[in-house]
Amino acid sequence: MEEARQRHGLWPTATAALGRAMTGAALLAATLKGEEELTLQLVGDGPLGRVVVVASATGAVRGYVEHPEVHLPLKADGHLDVGGAVGQGELLVIRDLGLKEPYVGRVPLVSGEIGEDLAYYLAHSEQIPSAVALGVLVDVDGRARAAGGLMIQLMPGHREETVAAVEQAVQRLPALSRSIDGGRGPRQLAEEHLGALGIRWLAERPLRFACTCSRERFERGLVALGPEELQALLEEQGEAETVCRFCAAQYLFDREDLERLLREASGSAEA
Ligand SMILES: [Zn+2]
Repeated sequence: MEEARQRHGLWPTATAALGRAMTGAALLAATLKGEEELTLQLVGDGPLGRVVVVASATGAVRGYVEHPEVHLPLKADGHLDVGGAVGQGELLVIRDLGLKEPYVGRVPLVSGEIGEDLAYYLAHSEQIPSAVALGVLVDVDGRARAAGGLMIQLMPGHREETVAAVEQAVQRLPALSRSIDGGRGPRQLAEEHLGALGIRWLAERPLRFACTCSRERFERGLVALGPEELQALLEEQGEAETVCRFCAAQYLFDREDLERLLREASGSAEA
């Protein structure tokens, strides 16, 4: 999360919002396999604009907010006002499972606080009763000190007393970001708060901020503009700089590069 903050130059409320979205997407992606990935989009009318995160089965997470320089006054309870920064709108979850069409689920935003919105999405769009707790701790100097969360889902065939026990555990959950900052990892968090239910550990997956962009990818994008637009770009600017939205990496294409890409674009246009 701290890498994302640095790359995008996020202000505190934006850091909390993207951190919660990245954590939530990573939790949702826990059930993906192989090359599968999912995209989480918060499309709200708040100052952040769109919040977009992609998480993959390999544990790679990348994401951005449309307007990174957002910081709102704290809420009455002292928390960062993520709901105010996101605003009202929709939550979209796009699962690309390698089929022809990706699966898109959409629900209205409940509060824009993201954890609540994900729980609502899971209950209504995927019919899985769930609790989602997400926390990001932003330091006084603006750095992301801690980020993490828990997602609890009731499996088919669960018993009534399990529902009650989970509800109680969820109500007693503390602010997770403080626990994580205090050094607790996912195992300890689960043991501490859900241990009474009996835990069986199935899998563990490391997470990291990682993007899939490359110079080649942006080259293909430039070629796809077509010879006319490339010619105009060459004449008007003489070079092109592209910036990846997901990781803020910059790629510069000078005159020579653009001339080569123009030849490529002209060649493919003729062919
Ligand atoms: Zn990138």
